[in-house]
Amino acid sequence: MTLSDQTPTRRVAIVTGAAQGIGRAISLRLATEGFEVALADLSTSSDKLQEVSRDIKKIGGRSVTIPTDVTVEAEVYALVSKTVEELGRLDVMVANAGIAPVCPFLEMKPELLDKIFSVNVRGVFLCYQAAAKQMIKQGSGGRLIAACSTSGLRTGPNVSGYCASKFAVRALNQGAALEFGKYGITANVYCPTVVETDMWKNIDAEITSMQGIEAGTYTQKRRDVNPLGRNATPEDIAGMVAFLASKDASFVSGQAMQVTGGDWLS
Ligand code: NAD
Repeated sequence: MTLSDQTPTRRVAIVTGAAQGIGRAISLRLATEGFEVALADLSTSSDKLQEVSRDIKKIGGRSVTIPTDVTVEAEVYALVSKTVEELGRLDVMVANAGIAPVCPFLEMKPELLDKIFSVNVRGVFLCYQAAAKQMIKQGSGGRLIAACSTSGLRTGPNVSGYCASKFAVRALNQGAALEFGKYGITANVYCPTVVETDMWKNIDAEITSMQGIEAGTYTQKRRDVNPLGRNATPEDIAGMVAFLASKDASFVSGQAMQVTGGDWLS
């Protein structure tokens, strides 16, 4: 059985890290595609989550907000069960929440590495596991989708911890694709290059300060080297996620989908 064989009339997605940036754009796009969306982010971002929910209402969509720390097992399982309680089912899990501290290898404390892995790897693992259990119970397949990065394909300087975590996300995703295929569940990650969100602004600030150059210079440099002459927008990434969540992606699984405008070539 696959999602394309048995598409339910209601389609429900969870998006983590939904309060801003890429997660916000994915939530709005999935709502536009007819998904009812459970919006999850840290409780400290509740106001922003409510704003996203209001924006979804404005375009005629339906959403619920469920404050969740993706590093906490009980909270992730509660996210899935509350989603099912309030929206009736779960078809798509978008494990988007992530953090990207910049830190040279020699200066990195093991605690920082643990923190990065806690959000980026443990968070994705818990989201995939809790969602897959629900999807298997429903018996009509599902889609697991997670945020990776071009940093999950090749490591760069000063972000080794982040890159290692995104390599791990890709490995978890491949394992999920292999083990859950028999239930009609696909698993794919999206790998953006630079997306000009708050996360990126912070990366630019850290890198330019390390190099003693003006803030924003690194972002501009990345625009200049991109064949399309710009960096990605959150909506560019949301388009890829909408595809991965759609019927058209029924036979796509275990993949790391690059969204780079061509500044990475496969
Ligand atoms: P962002 O910092 O703008 O937003 C991330 C969201 O995740 C925030 O709302 C934050 O509150 C939430 N979050 C952080 N820790 C959490 C936790 N423990 N539990 C729940 N929510 C948590 O980042 P973004 O640029 O929108 O990035 C989204 C994803 O895309 C991340 O996984 C990131 O690694 C990945 N990515 C981003 C870029 C980029 O250039 N911005 C490039 C490649 C991949």
